[in-house]
Amino acid sequence: MGTYKEFHRRSIEQREEFWAEQAKLVDWQRPCRQVLDYSRPPFAKWFVGGQTNLCHNAVDRHLAARGGQKALIYISTETGQERTYTFRDLHKEVNRCAGMIRSLGVGKGDRVLIYMPMIPEAVFAMLACARLGAIHSVVFGGFAARSLAARIDDARPKLMITADGGLRGGRAILYQSMFNEAIRVSKSPPAKVVVFNRGLDKELGSVAGRDCDYEELRSRHMDDEVPVTWVESNEPSYILYTSGTTGQPKGVQRDTGGYAVALAASMKHIYCGSPGETMFTTSDIGWVVGHSYIVYGPLIYGMTSVMYEGLPIRPDAGIWWKIVADNKVTVMFSSPTAARVLKKQDPAFIKQHDISSLKHLFLAGEPLDEPTHRWFTEALGKPVIDHYWQTETGWPLLTSAPAVERTPVKLGSPGFPAYGYDLRLLRESDAGEAKPNEKAVVAVVPPLPPGCMSTVWGDDERFVETYFTSFPGKLVYSTFDWGIRDEDGYHFILGRTDDVINVAGHRLGTREIEEAVQAHPNIAEVAVVGVADPLKGQLPLAFAVVKDVAKVATQELRASQEKEVMDTVDRQLGAVGRPSRVHFVTLLPKTRSGKLLRRSIQALAEGRDPGDLTTIEDASALDQIRAAMQPAVR
Ligand code: AMP
Repeated sequence: MGTYKEFHRRSIEQREEFWAEQAKLVDWQRPCRQVLDYSRPPFAKWFVGGQTNLCHNAVDRHLAARGGQKALIYISTETGQERTYTFRDLHKEVNRCAGMIRSLGVGKGDRVLIYMPMIPEAVFAMLACARLGAIHSVVFGGFAARSLAARIDDARPKLMITADGGLRGGRAILYQSMFNEAIRVSKSPPAKVVVFNRGLDKELGSVAGRDCDYEELRSRHMDDEVPVTWVESNEPSYILYTSGTTGQPKGVQRDTGGYAVALAASMKHIYCGSPGETMFTTSDIGWVVGHSYIVYGPLIYGMTSVMYEGLPIRPDAGIWWKIVADNKVTVMFSSPTAARVLKKQDPAFIKQHDISSLKHLFLAGEPLDEPTHRWFTEALGKPVIDHYWQTETGWPLLTSAPAVERTPVKLGSPGFPAYGYDLRLLRESDAGEAKPNEKAVVAVVPPLPPGCMSTVWGDDERFVETYFTSFPGKLVYSTFDWGIRDEDGYHFILGRTDDVINVAGHRLGTREIEEAVQAHPNIAEVAVVGVADPLKGQLPLAFAVVKDVAKVATQELRASQEKEVMDTVDRQLGAVGRPSRVHFVTLLPKTRSGKLLRRSIQALAEGRDPGDLTTIEDASALDQIRAAMQPAVR
């Protein structure tokens, strides 16, 4: 591992020289005067004084050398639609979209909320915002009114760009009622809403003075040429909300120059991409992986990006491999849940297609179990690389970097600290460094490298408070993940240290789900925990205390009440946060000071020992959890 170790060492010990070199991978309108300003820890400013633009780097700069090359290949197995855009086409569409947005009064620094399904217009909108120096905030299309409203209130967007709906497994998820409700309850609603009509919602209406039809507006901006707005490297490019331990999602704020450099460097060193090749990332643009590796990363690096709307097993389990074969994909990026879904299918589906172009498959988002890692590696006959990262970091923090050194893969391990990260495993008790194989908190000694979040949107204090105060007296970034390092330096992630759960790679705060459950009028109190699930990693499970017990007096009533609660969560938060079950109890296990004993509830729900119960107020509450779990255990 000598070569990579040396590469990593240099990225920490000669930080500025290292990143100055990487910065050459992107275009700068004006070079920076200082590589790193770390005068106000833990806030790191990268490439200070440098002027650049994400849209220029992703689109314009490729026009001369690769204008005719495909930039975006859109494939929807939901609608059967396929659309291809060369860099020249993309440039045209982005200019049109930028013209549209500008005509609605959006300029540098304004926020634009993008609530879109997986369609190319979502990519145009993101790039158009970047072109104008506006700040986009993409909200996952699976989130419902309340989640959307919380993000609107925090980001205060001038404009929302949305569509009539998304599709999943042949089922339409209509957006109209959700964005209307979100705007209705929001304290600072956007003045304008652009709606892309896919023809999914026969009852799609329009609010006069507020709504504009995407196509109609586009037709008025066909020949627009919108100059790139150059921004200082540290000016925000986007806000992406992520769940934490409170009900209030955090706006992860990303800079511009550092992000461009981090992505370009990762395309080279980690993903082994080359300009002109094709990358296929199966995520959604609503998540960080979609931002970094469907949109910005591959495009900045002059690669073609495949954007896919659909399931991995529809029309059959060969669809992804057909896409790889048809488009000569060299780099693919997916999730462990998708791998576990495919594992249940006949591997012959893979063999039917010529996937010889593929160099690696990368997986991230949740722990990758060893059997799935082994199965996928054997089924593909290609290296499957697990890597670990967070919305906050924007690119991997544990990985191997095959372009630097082909380190052997250890099944179930996301590898080594990525270059740029001074990663430590710290004991929770005394912040001391853990010994090999000792479970500890995965932490990073700041400054965080380029590409990582610069702050929490509008709340510097929350940024410091949330991420840098886990270890008293020590300014280190906590990932809130447990991990271990073995004798060979390979890391393993063992799950979260906080109340965040991970359902099929989607990160959800138990608090958020609890608030959505509590929106049901008959719920007095609720505890939501994540329990292990063989397919999705974890599933949320709710234990609720009702106000009117008569409503849960019989089996039928309980079933109907449970359904109502689930529907409430769907409406409030989105189906992504729906508990797999809602069990009704009369009491929740709490400490004498009134704190929920969440870890004990979780342990019981998973059939484990509930641990230390010396502080419990009323032990009979645990019996109710045990009793509720009985049928599931049997
Ligand atoms: P998100 O910010 O939604 O991408 O979620 C980040 C969290 O997902 C991390 O803090 C981990 O808990 C988990 N995660 C991401 N990648 C991995 C991985 N390769 N192995 C284990 N857990 C992961």
